Amino acid sequence: RQPIIAIDGPAGAGKSTVAKQVATQLGLVYLDTGAMYRAITWLVLQTGTDPEDEQAIACLARGCKIELIATENPEIPLEVWINNHNVTKEIRSGEVTAKVSGVSGQSAVRQFLVREQQKWGEKGGLVAEGRDIGTNVFPDAEVKIFLTASVEERARRRQQDFIKQGRGEVSLEQLKQEIQERDEKDSTRKISPLRKASDALEIETDGLSAEEVTAKIVDCYHN
Ligand code: C5P
Repeated sequence: RQPIIAIDGPAGAGKSTVAKQVATQLGLVYLDTGAMYRAITWLVLQTGTDPEDEQAIACLARGCKIELIATENPEIPLEVWINNHNVTKEIRSGEVTAKVSGVSGQSAVRQFLVREQQKWGEKGGLVAEGRDIGTNVFPDAEVKIFLTASVEERARRRQQDFIKQGRGEVSLEQLKQEIQERDEKDSTRKISPLRKASDALEIETDGLSAEEVTAKIVDCYHN
C-alpha cells in the first residue's frame, strides 16, 4: 500500500488546515476523522437520543451510513453526509461541539468508526487527522505527527475560523474554556485517548504559519 500520514493533536492545533494542505501538495486523500464523530453526534441530537444512553447510541452508530465527499470548492473541501443528510455545516455547531467528546468516548461508536477509517486506509495514500490516528487507527503509518500549540494560540485560531465562516462573535475566554474542556475529556477517556504516539514527531506550532507546518510535514514525508 501507499504511505499514510497520521496527524493527531488537541482541538484547534491547526490539524485540519495543515492536513488538507499536505494532502493537496502530495496528491493524497484527506480524511477528517473528527467529522465522522461529529456526524454521529449530530444524529444523536437530531433523533433526540440520550447522549448518555450507550445502547441506543450503539444501535444508531452501527446502522448509520457516513459519507465524506471531496469537492472542488476550496472553502468546503469536504462534504459530510450521514444517512443521506448533508450535515457539512451542522456538524460545526456549538451544540455538536459541546456533545462530541461524550459521544466519541463510547466504545461502540469508536469501534464502528475506527473500522470505517481503516477501510479508507486499505490502499494507503492518505492523510488522516484526529486524536488516535497514530496510536490506534494506523499504528503503522509511515509518518506520524503530533501538532500542539498553546491554548491561547488555539483559541485565537478558532476565533479567526468563526469570523471567516461568518458565524458571529465569540469571546477568546469562552473559546479557551471550550477547548480545554474538550481536551480534558478527550485525553482522559478510557478508550484510545488523545495521546502522542511514541514514534510521532511533535511540532509546536505557536508562531508558525500553516504553510510552514505543512512544509515540515512534507519534508518528513520525503525523508
Ligand atoms: O477534530 P475535531 O475537533 O473535529 O474532533 C471532534 C471530536 O471528535 C474531538 O473532540 C474528539 O472527541 C473526537 N475525535 C476522536 N477521535 C478522533 C477524532 C476526533 O475521539 N480520531
